[in-house]
Parts: sequence; structure tokens; C-alpha cells
Amino acid sequence: MKKVHNFTAGPCILPQQAIDNAIEALKDFKNTGIPVISISHRTKEWESVMDECRSLWKELLNIPDTHEVVFFGGGASMGFLLAAMNFLENKAGYLETGVWAKKALKEAKGLGNAYAVASSSDTTYSYIPKGYEIPADLDYFHITTNNTIYGTEIHEDMDCPVPLIADMSSDIMSRPVDVSKYALIYGGAQKNVGPAGVTFAIVRKDALGKVSRYIPTILDFRTLIDGASMFNTPPVFPIFVMNETLKWLKENGGVEAMHKINMQKAKLLYGEIDRNSMFRGTSAVEDRSIMNVCFVMAEGRENLQDEFMAFAKERGMTGIKGHRSVGGFRASIYNACPLESVQALVDCMREFEELKK
Ligand SMILES: *Cc1c(COP(=O)(O)O)cnc(C)c1O
Repeated sequence: MKKVHNFTAGPCILPQQAIDNAIEALKDFKNTGIPVISISHRTKEWESVMDECRSLWKELLNIPDTHEVVFFGGGASMGFLLAAMNFLENKAGYLETGVWAKKALKEAKGLGNAYAVASSSDTTYSYIPKGYEIPADLDYFHITTNNTIYGTEIHEDMDCPVPLIADMSSDIMSRPVDVSKYALIYGGAQKNVGPAGVTFAIVRKDALGKVSRYIPTILDFRTLIDGASMFNTPPVFPIFVMNETLKWLKENGGVEAMHKINMQKAKLLYGEIDRNSMFRGTSAVEDRSIMNVCFVMAEGRENLQDEFMAFAKERGMTGIKGHRSVGGFRASIYNACPLESVQALVDCMREFEELKK
């Protein structure tokens, strides 16, 4: 197979070990003689995968007994709806830090009174708003911890006077999280913990049951919790791969170790962006994401964009095209992206500068 350095935003790079084990399980799942995609989800072999996956989530993120983790289909976009369905009664506030945050807000608006407490839309979401006040009468405050498209991130678990809800699609498991500070954490698996097709949610159990609306059975977190994510057929194969990804994560030191390496990778790449006369970063320095690194050609060098893209492609870099709303480049350096790939990109940027100086 061709050697590539995969920086795609999602679906994205996953640990090779997880992929290899998935291939084996497609041939023969746990010595049953049956492929993992052909076995009943009501067998003890499958239930052991569900149990293991749930335990790994709890162990890796240190999830307290007050919370439960559930898995379902639909993506983070379904999570937008579930958050509002299960938590919105009178009024909800959202931190509008990008298009995903805006889409989450739209779902809440469809169900009731919801608004943006603060927004960074004035600069194409290049920073995280600060200094705003969270009204104490909100049912919840919703944040997007990592803004995949713009490369900004909320690096710490904030104190919040009302239940805090977070879309952590693209930075879950990249750092330790104080789960006790959140009423709900959710996201699509396909950015850091698995393939597309499974969505995760960590819910504080006593925060549920406080809304008066009818919640459709399958959209009610209590259904998912009571059924141990098996109320209906779960996305079996994506969950299998997610479990293998978490096993890899644990074997490699867990979220603390990941965070250390992620910081190292981010420092290396941002360091080069700041040093290299050909490029400049697009997000506020203090809010820079350690998962999605966005950059554009430096002023006066804009005409070299296509050339650098081709130059990088030739050297095996893939998936570095920036989102159309920001332009330029975006390197997604999730947990499974090795330091050597980041180094290869940095080398490529240096070489390009030498060539064009
Ligand atoms: C990718 C992404 C989404 C959308 O996820 P889907 O699973 O495709 O619905 C939502 N929020 C964030 C932060 C994302 O990165």
C-alpha cells in the first residue's frame, strides 16, 4: 500500500491495530466461525464487546457513577436534537463558536426558546468568546469544545452555573475531562474514537426527566440507558471498531499519555507555522486547537496555495485541504495520527520554503 500521512478531518485515521483486528473479526468473530457483522447482537459474545466498550469509556474518562455512557446511531447531528429534546424546558443558551454550534442551536430553536449567549461569527469563528455571562435561569448551556472546521478549542472544563452540555465530537479522549462538570457530553465517534456510524453520549442520570414534552422513545436518553444501548439493534460494526480503538488507547497510556503526545504534535506544527515565512495560522493563539490545525499562505504568498497543495500531495500528505469556509489548509492530528506524520508535514513545509525563498 502507498505510504500516506493522513490528516483528514473525519472520518479519519484510526489505529492500525484496531483496523487489523476489525479485519480479523470480519472473518471470524471470537472463534464463533461467524463474521462480526453476521452475529446476533443478543449473543453473549456480542454482549461482552458492549460491556468491554462501556467499561473502557468509564475507565479512560474516569466517568463517575452519577453518569452513564450510551451508544446509538445518527451522528453528532442527532446529538444536537437529543440534547434539546431531553433538556430544554424553558430556555437554553448556546456558545456559538462555529457552524456545528449553530446547527446544534437550530435544533433547540425548533423545540423552544434558545439563543446564542455569545458568538465569534464576526471573524469566521477564529476565536472562543470570553467575558460573557451565563444567565442562571437557563435549563442548560451548550458548548462545542473543539471547533473542527476553524481549529479553535476550549481547553479546560469550565465552571457553569447551569447544567453544562458539550459536543465533544472532535476532541473526546484527547485530554482528561472532568466528567462531573457536565450534564451531557456527546459526539460522533468518527473524529477520535472510531469509524462513522456510532454516536456516544455521557449523561448525568439525575439531570434527566425534567422536561414536560413527549420525548419519542428512541430519542429519550432513558431508553438508551435502561436498554444498555441495546433497546434496538446497535451499530454493531462501528462499536466493535470503537472498542478496538479504545483498547489501543488504553495500551498506549490512556488519555493523559494521549494529551502529552497531542500537545507535542500541536507544538511542533504550530511552531513551524509561526516560524515559516510561507504560512500563517488562522485562529487566535490562545484558543488554538490541538486536534485541527488550520493555516493559510502568508500575506503576499496566496498565489502559491495550489502549488503547496500539489507539493505536499506528492510527499504523501493527504486530507490537508481546509474547510471551504476558512480556505487554506487544515491538518487534523487526532490521537491516532503519529508524531512522525506531523514531522513529515513540517519537513514538507520547510522544504517548500527553501524552494520558494
Ligand atoms: C463532525 C462534527 C459534527 C457532526 O457530526 P456528524 O456525526 O456528522 O453528525 C458535529 N460537531 C462537531 C464538533 C464535529 O466535528
